Amino acid sequence: MVYNVIIIGSGPAGLTAAIYAARANLEPLVIAGATPGGQLMVTSDVENYPGFPNGIQGPELMQLFREQALRFGTTLINADIVSADLRRYPFSLSTSDTTYQCKSVIIATGATAKWIGLDSETRLRGKGVSACATCDGFFFRGKRVAVVGGGDAALEEANFLTKFATSVTVIHRRDALRASKIMQDRAKANPKISFIWNSEVIEVLGDTHVTGLKLKNVRTDERMNVQTDGLFVAIGHEPNTSIFKGQLDLDVKGYMVVHDHTRTSVDGVFTAGDVHDHHYRQAITAAGFGCMAAIDVERWLEEKGVATA
Ligand code: NAP
Repeated sequence: MVYNVIIIGSGPAGLTAAIYAARANLEPLVIAGATPGGQLMVTSDVENYPGFPNGIQGPELMQLFREQALRFGTTLINADIVSADLRRYPFSLSTSDTTYQCKSVIIATGATAKWIGLDSETRLRGKGVSACATCDGFFFRGKRVAVVGGGDAALEEANFLTKFATSVTVIHRRDALRASKIMQDRAKANPKISFIWNSEVIEVLGDTHVTGLKLKNVRTDERMNVQTDGLFVAIGHEPNTSIFKGQLDLDVKGYMVVHDHTRTSVDGVFTAGDVHDHHYRQAITAAGFGCMAAIDVERWLEEKGVATA
């Protein structure tokens, strides 16, 4: 069987693409990943997704996306793609035990936030440790927070967090920021933001929620504890594109390059969500890109005259 479209990924981008493709009678196959649902599966309260005035838990929101995709005739399998052949047509995508063929592909494999890699950080994720200020900043009204990182994202998060927190401490492993000058100037001029230089977080402190951090000065090896109610890790994201390397245009950081709307460098291969968008990185924007990619696929298949319902 040759599918009209295979959607890789099952976050907001992939499942929105599935809803639109299924409603266009394309009978899509979603290869959802071995741990489906994307980044929202590790987010607790989602309060900025329109349509949920009282907020919703991330996993519950993804379950609703999934039900909606299935309702219109999506086939969904929980497996990872281990290899892709986009050089020959129809395209081939393989999981560990099956190879699927398709006329078009939507890559919505997302990006993974980088974490420091501490056990205490994993244990307290969602309990004061977060990688998304836009998602979780609101919960720190009147509290103290720390941000790890020295790039644009870290300073953007720090600035954003000053809307809620009483103080924001940026902890950076060097004594010079990587962020653009304008972001640096803005952060340094903000009276709520302070910096701790040349330091790494070596432990997140707290039993049920974050109460502080243990830091190590990388120059002097000196240790110190700082009190904080929250830790925002902003040390970059990794786009999930490794299996497409060499077959599709990727930028220097590995993000999918978009050529025209949602088209990639291979005709018939489209992309949606955080795998190409490192600018907005929101569930709602990913969902929007998913919708766009499905519409683009539908038109592309029609133009080629290859769609079968
Ligand atoms: P980034 O520019 O790669 O910066 C990552 C920062 O995290 C660096 O300062 C790095 O330290 C630090 N870091 C990396 N691994 C670490 C670790 N294990 N422990 C401690 N610190 C670590 O990533 P980003 O800030 O996410 O930005 C990604 C891209 O999006 C950039 O091109 C950025 O310009 C863009 N962006 C732009 C805006 C904006 O213009 N408004 C906002 C957000 C992002 P070192 O400096 O020592 O390497």
